[in-house]
Parts: sequence; structure tokens; C-alpha cells
Amino acid sequence: MPLTPVKPGRIKVFFSSLRRQILIGVFSLLFPLVTLAGAGYYIYLNTVTSFDSVMDDVFLYGLPVGEVRELLYQVSLPVTNHLISSNAEERDKYLRLKDQINQMLREMVETKSDDIGLVNKEIIKQAYIEWQAATVNADNLVLLRDQINEEEAVRLFNQFDQRLGVAIVEVMLYHQNINQAIVNKRDSVDKHLNNVSYISIVIMVMAFLLSATIIIFFIRNVVIPLQVIEKGAMQFGHGDFSHRIEIESNNELGKLAVTFNSMADKLEEIATRDGLTNLLNKKAILQILDSELVRATRNESTLGLMMLDLDYFKRINDTYGHQVGDAVLVTATELIEKYVRGIDYVGRYGGEEIVIVLPDTSETESVEIAERIRRSLASTPLAVSETKFVHVTVSIGIAMFPTDGVDEDVLLSNADQAMYHAKGEGRNRVVRYRDLTE
Ligand code: GH3
Ligand code: MG
Ligand code: MG
Repeated sequence: MPLTPVKPGRIKVFFSSLRRQILIGVFSLLFPLVTLAGAGYYIYLNTVTSFDSVMDDVFLYGLPVGEVRELLYQVSLPVTNHLISSNAEERDKYLRLKDQINQMLREMVETKSDDIGLVNKEIIKQAYIEWQAATVNADNLVLLRDQINEEEAVRLFNQFDQRLGVAIVEVMLYHQNINQAIVNKRDSVDKHLNNVSYISIVIMVMAFLLSATIIIFFIRNVVIPLQVIEKGAMQFGHGDFSHRIEIESNNELGKLAVTFNSMADKLEEIATRDGLTNLLNKKAILQILDSELVRATRNESTLGLMMLDLDYFKRINDTYGHQVGDAVLVTATELIEKYVRGIDYVGRYGGEEIVIVLPDTSETESVEIAERIRRSLASTPLAVSETKFVHVTVSIGIAMFPTDGVDEDVLLSNADQAMYHAKGEGRNRVVRYRDLTE
């Protein structure tokens, strides 16, 4: 039976086109690729800018604080030396260092605190204040050295040294603070990167699953149906017209399969049917007889075989012409077909000789069917012209499986013998092969 596709909904119709399926498939494959590329670029940018930001913090804040701490350590030496020697060079050295430290500390105090996270700006402000107080002492010491006595000088130096010490401690604290802020920032960058790599793994898995789904879809809807069609076409090519292609999808390949199947229906009909009467042809009815005999043997059932020959048919041809003969033959076979059952097979065996295979049928039933055919033909007038009718009779021979034979040829020959016997007995009758032997 040809596969008729179920009428699908509008959306199904839209997606049932193979061209649309391929387009959608290609674009669906692009989606994970673009997502992967975008995610990769995003991760790359994020990594680079995050690490850049950590490095900036180190260069902008970490290193200068270390540097200013070093300068603070160095600044007390020229002051001490000047106290001892009153050397102008030492004084200038101090003044240079002081300018340098002033500038650096001011910059640090003025930096916006949110640039470097949670750093306690109060510490560096405090250091700056202490340092400035220390410089007041040191300035007095180096600039007014000649005008103050020894005792005052020592007092100023001690005060300077003490304030410098406090400033150094504050700067060290601030340095620790900045280092901690940088470590915290780096930790959060690490954490962020971890999250990003989880997300990218999820995207990769999703892209893989999506691609796998699309590939499976194509294997199911394109590759396998193509294989089935190829196999079916080869079967048809080898003359097996009973083969049918079975494809579930509604796409172009499904439609191609339906077309192939209806082509096979037609070819099967041409190959097995008689052109004039549309009965099974000789080859087909013999094949059926063969397979029904195999089935009857397997099931241990009986089978009836009828051989029919129209009586004096030559006369009809001779009287009304061959064309009228053809028409009468067609009408007679139509009538015969009416009196057989759905399970029976009727075939044109020769010119006006017909074979009927009756599966699962007893002898009594076979005779009954034969009698029905004979009676109906004999009693039905068949038109030979618009106004003229004739009565055509038929002689029927019956052979039974397995009682009259188990072999196809034997049964055919025995049914034929019975039919000829019916002719000899005067025609328009049914004869069982068994009657000849009893
Ligand atoms: P009977 O069978 O009763 O002995 O006499 P018959 O005249 O029918 O003789 P037979 O069966 O031997 O001959 C069959 C005749 O049927 C020969 C031919 O003229 C005719 N015939 C066979 N096939 C066709 C066909 O396809 N069309 C037509 N018009 N005639 C056919
Ligand atoms: Mg005849
Ligand atoms: Mg004949």
C-alpha cells in the first residue's frame, strides 16, 4: 500500500521542507559557533584588562610607596651629617630629598581613594602631616644651624628624628595596605576568571549538544531516508515491484518516496494484470497458485483450482467480429469476478481460458462457486450490438489440493482434464477431476 502522508499543521508544513530544514540547520550550527567565538573574545578581553588593572595598581601605587619609604630612610643621613659638619652640600642634599618626598607624598594624598579599592587614605595623610612637621624641625636645623646653640640643635634633631620615624611607620602601614588591596583585587580577578571558565565550559557543552542534535536530525531526516530510497530504487530496478519505500518524514524525500511507491503500484499492475480483461495475467496467477500451495501445505488446508473455458467462443468472433468478441470476453470476466469471494484469485490463463485459485476452500464450496458462475453466465444475456444479445456458457473443471494432486503442474493438468471432460459431456457444466477417476 502506498504511504499517504498525514495532513500536518501549518508549522509542521513549514518545517517539513528539506530546503528549510537545511537552512535552519546551517544557521543553528552557526549559532553555537558565533557564541563560542564571542565568548572566547570576551574571556580574552576580560583576562587581559583584569590583569592590566592589577599591574597598573602595582606600578601606580605599590612601587611609589616603596620608593618614598626608601627616601624617608635616606633623608636623615644628610641632616645628621650637616649637624656634625655644617656642610652646605649635605644641606642641599637634604633639601633635594625633601622636595622629592614632598611631591610624592602630596600626589599620594591627592589620589582618589576608589582607584585602588579599600585603602585607608587617613594613614598616608597622617604620614604626610608627620613628615611636614619633621621637615619644620629639619629646615630650622639646616638653615639656622649657625644661629642656634648645640642644645637647641640636638633638641630639633631629636624631634625631627622622632617625627620622621612616625612618618616612616605610617608609610610602611600604608604600603602594607596597598599590597593587601592589590592581593584582594588579584583574588577577585582569579575568582571572576574561574566563573568565566565555568560559563565557557557550559557554552561549549551546549554548543556540542546543539551540534549533535542537528547532526542526529540530519542523519534521521536526510541520510537514512536517502539510503532507504536508494535501496528501494534498486529493488524496483531489479523488477521487484512489490517493494514499497517506507519513510516517515514529510519532507521532499517523504514525498519522493510516496511518488516512488505509486510508480511501483502502477508498474506492479502493468506487470501482473492482463491488458484486456484486467484479470491477473498467466505469470501472476501461476505465482499465486505456487505460493498458495506452499501456504496450504504449511497450514494443512484444502485449496480448489478451477479451469474455465468459454463455450463456442470462436463462433462469436466469427459471427460478430473480433472486437465484439473482446467486449463479450470482458463482460463475461466481470461477471465471473462477481461470483467469487474476496479471498479468491482470478487469472487469464489463455485466450478465453480462466484459472481461479480458491484458498482454504473445500470441494463442496468449490463446486458451489463454480455452479454459481456457470448459472449466472448462462442466464445473463450479453450485448453483441445495441439491440442484440447472446448467451455465453462456460465449461468448468475442478481439481482439489491435496486430494487430486499436490503439485502445481499436476493440479493444472487435472483441472484442465476435468474441463475438457465437461466440454465432452456437452459443455455448460461443472466437472470435478474426482468424477473422472471414480
Ligand atoms: P470450445 O471451447 O467450446 O470447444 O469452443 P471454442 O470456439 O471456444 O474453441 P476454443 O476454446 O478452442 O477456441 C478459443 C477461441 O476463442 C479462439 C479465438 O477465436 C477466441 N479467442 C481467444 N482469445 C480471444 C480474445 O482475446 N479475443 C477474442 N475476440 N477472441 C478470442
Ligand atoms: Mg472455448
Ligand atoms: Mg479455449
